Amino acid sequence: MTEKGRRDFCIECRKETAYLLQKRDIVKNIRDKDYTFAITVAVCAECGEEMSIPGLIDKNVQEIDEQYRSAEGLVSIDDIERLMKIYKIGKAPLSLALGFGEVTIPRYLEGQVPSKEYSDIIKTAISSPAYMKQKLMENREKLTDAAYRKAFSAAESIESLFSVSDKMLRVIAYIFEKLEEVTPLMLQKLLYFIQGVYSALYGKPIFEEDCRAWLHGPVYPEVYELFRDFKYNPIDDARFALLEGAEDALTDDEKRVINLVVNTFGIYGGKVLEKITHNEDPWMEARKGYGDSIPSSEFLPKERIMKYYILINQKYGIDTEAGLRTYIHDMLGKVS
Ligand SMILES: [Zn+2]
Repeated sequence: MTEKGRRDFCIECRKETAYLLQKRDIVKNIRDKDYTFAITVAVCAECGEEMSIPGLIDKNVQEIDEQYRSAEGLVSIDDIERLMKIYKIGKAPLSLALGFGEVTIPRYLEGQVPSKEYSDIIKTAISSPAYMKQKLMENREKLTDAAYRKAFSAAESIESLFSVSDKMLRVIAYIFEKLEEVTPLMLQKLLYFIQGVYSALYGKPIFEEDCRAWLHGPVYPEVYELFRDFKYNPIDDARFALLEGAEDALTDDEKRVINLVVNTFGIYGGKVLEKITHNEDPWMEARKGYGDSIPSSEFLPKERIMKYYILINQKYGIDTEAGLRTYIHDMLGKVS
């Protein structure tokens, strides 16, 4: 059914005519309860009668199924697929992990409507990795070791998403919207620069997390945990479904600073950015007395980063891309 030139045979007109797709309400009784569903119908443009079009019945079945589930607050097939993807678990093991029979989830995926009780279990598992971990532990002996471990570690990684502040998640979501490819190493550095530039320009941190001085530069450990096994393309990662739309809650000032950093520091790879942070005072101060064997627990407090970037702002004017570029140029010219 294409947008233009929709035509089919009208049995009233006894010829091929153009038709329009419209929504019509129907009332259907399911388990002694009346429901009103809006379904798509094809109407002849000449006589106004409804026409039967190939594929329309399938579409109506799907429409009724979706509307029934939403009226009853039941999960959709998409929700179940998302659950499998987020926790990296197959349909049969998922069934067992949730305490259902082995074929229950496969049947739901084929279109069977779940009971309210089972639907609620599935819903809770989607929104709570702690609950998913609990279910996995309860049913551990029913699963293979490999399936258990894979799902459990996925649940832990999702859990760390919730240990990161909302502001941090919004900043990360916005970075991913602006940059197509971000490696974990790059992401860490960009967050650090965003914190530095923002706090220098506005006198307060953008997010509450403190970073730590790791061998390869400043690192936010919660974020590191979150993206440990993260691939370069965030689109393929189901975890990003949880981040969707988060960036909308940022203020204009916050977005402005992220844009400044993404358009300047963001054009370099992780290793080049590491060279810059290694040449900065906050890092060098954290390293003092440790040589190369800096302990990874060493804090790099946000106040120290702010202090440093206030000085950099006075020297370079980092409220513009040009100022930041000059700063980057100077830092890369230094011999460490
Ligand atoms: Zn007709």
